[in-house]
Amino acid sequence: MIVRDELSHASRRLSACLSFDFDAMSVWIAGTDNPAAISRGEFSTIAVPRILSLLERNNIRSTFFIPGHTALAYPDLVRQIRDAGHEIGHHGWVHENPASVDYQGECAIFERGLEALDRVAGVRPMGYRSPSNDLSARSMELLLSYGMRYDSSCGGSDFAPYYQRVNDRVSKTEPYVFGQTVDLVEVPFSWILDDFPHMEFDAGWSTEQSPPSTVREIWQGEFDYAYQHTPGGIFNLCMHPQVIGRGHRLTMLEKLIEWMKQPGVVFETIGEYVERWRSENPLGDWIASNPIRAGTNALSE
Ligand SMILES: [Zn+2]
Repeated sequence: MIVRDELSHASRRLSACLSFDFDAMSVWIAGTDNPAAISRGEFSTIAVPRILSLLERNNIRSTFFIPGHTALAYPDLVRQIRDAGHEIGHHGWVHENPASVDYQGECAIFERGLEALDRVAGVRPMGYRSPSNDLSARSMELLLSYGMRYDSSCGGSDFAPYYQRVNDRVSKTEPYVFGQTVDLVEVPFSWILDDFPHMEFDAGWSTEQSPPSTVREIWQGEFDYAYQHTPGGIFNLCMHPQVIGRGHRLTMLEKLIEWMKQPGVVFETIGEYVERWRSENPLGDWIASNPIRAGTNALSE
């Protein structure tokens, strides 16, 4: 493996981030107090140490998105994550849908998440991933106002980051109106590169419990394409300790990591990648060279 700092700018080919959403119980407690359901999140107490060990064996630093609720439940695990050098990102307070409340409520949720991470680990995240991929129409505006440097919830690209927009106007009766492109980087998310829908049973939502070999075929195929076709891009895997932490799945992940250790591949946190990408792609320059993405030439009636 090539460690990040050993690579010159020119020899970087692809960044790989193994990101983990440490949801624990927060993802199961909406509308139930069933101990069996909640215990699925408790499995994170077994899985997180396994993941930290795997990352240490492979000399990889990663990004963990953590709800405030999880941070208060498992402060020792969150501090272990921090002390191992991993990035900690914002993941809501209790895995709630930001669109389920008004803007004031969304700000309150966001601040409660910030306060918990600060209290437990003394960190202020620079990045955000929305719980269950849910966002409100004003979430990007909120992230910007709280000084976030990146979001990793949207799928307008796969391996190439882009700058987010605020104030798009969406209508089924009028042409699409592109809002203002802003200083907030989007690091693309995809359900394809998420372990949950592939491998976790959740009645009414996901019924797949795919063999790891199938998941590896998909993930490795995406990685190989990114390596070939998007130099300078980022391969952003989204995993959950309570899902990927099962033995047969971790074994697959470690084999995949071995495969990914190819010339020019850098394993790093999303935050590290974002700061470098921002410096190489200033907002004004990026808008000028990406008119289609920015909607510069979009037509109105
Ligand atoms: Zn989550």
